Amino acid sequence: MLRHDDTEPENRPSGAMSVTDMLPTITGARADGVEAIVRSFGGLRRRQLLAEKPIAEQKLAALVVVAKVVRRELVEGPLTLGELEYGRAQQAMPAIADYGMDAMTLVIREVGERRACPDCAMQPGSMSCSVCGGSGVVEDPVPYMNRARVNMGPRMLSCTACGATGTITCASCGGTARAVEVLAARVSDHGAELDHIYGPELSLTELDELRALCGGAELPAALSVNLEPRRDGGAYRDAPVRYALHGHDYEAAIPLARGALAGLGGAGKVEKEETSIHAWPYLRLSYKGGKRLALLRDAAGRHHALTPWG
Ligand SMILES: [Zn+2]
Ligand SMILES: [Zn+2]
Repeated sequence: MLRHDDTEPENRPSGAMSVTDMLPTITGARADGVEAIVRSFGGLRRRQLLAEKPIAEQKLAALVVVAKVVRRELVEGPLTLGELEYGRAQQAMPAIADYGMDAMTLVIREVGERRACPDCAMQPGSMSCSVCGGSGVVEDPVPYMNRARVNMGPRMLSCTACGATGTITCASCGGTARAVEVLAARVSDHGAELDHIYGPELSLTELDELRALCGGAELPAALSVNLEPRRDGGAYRDAPVRYALHGHDYEAAIPLARGALAGLGGAGKVEKEETSIHAWPYLRLSYKGGKRLALLRDAAGRHHALTPWG
């Protein structure tokens, strides 16, 4: 299998972690004093796995994906807007909403015929008061008690919303009784965020430990990768190339990360996005007796052993 390595040590800022500072080694873990203790026979037997020679060693990497998007959905259709609603509608497309914000805007695309306001056809310019239902009175929410503290039942009060008239100015046309036929677009912007680690070969406990190790830390720029489809440029032109960082394979995490990014924010077209993807290299070590561990380094370069049994 062909391999492609993301290795650009020349481009890294001085003082920052390099890829090699982040590659775990057994010798490095021993030097850092990492303990990977397993007990058996009711705790009588204690093994420090890192002192033993593993029977298998695999170079793998998890993907740390942090992303945010804003998607825009546009639904167009004919509408009749009263003159007041028409005056409030936007004529131009709104700017894309900020990250994390949802927004909904009605935009006029084309203006058609003028006609009578459909919302006040019964009484041009006015509509029935929705607070009192047109009666002009509302029930007092506080029960009326007489002097003897006897509940006298509900008491009716004048409706303040319509000044006891039962009608208000038509909310659609503002009282002009005129409306406009338009072709309008409902523009909905929806923001969504993702912060997740994909490591299909890691147990849930190991993923939690890894999340705790790199959560909140500024991820080393040297570990940054992208998910663009790869083609080998050499003799095997157009042959797919496996994804790896210094030999640490993260091929298995790619479909999970791609799927999550593709679905982020739901429907609509992606109008704005910021995505950072880092490959987190680890060594999967297997020992006699079916014991295994994942060896990796934190953002400061210190070794840690993740153990599948917690
Ligand atoms: Zn009213
Ligand atoms: Zn009206």
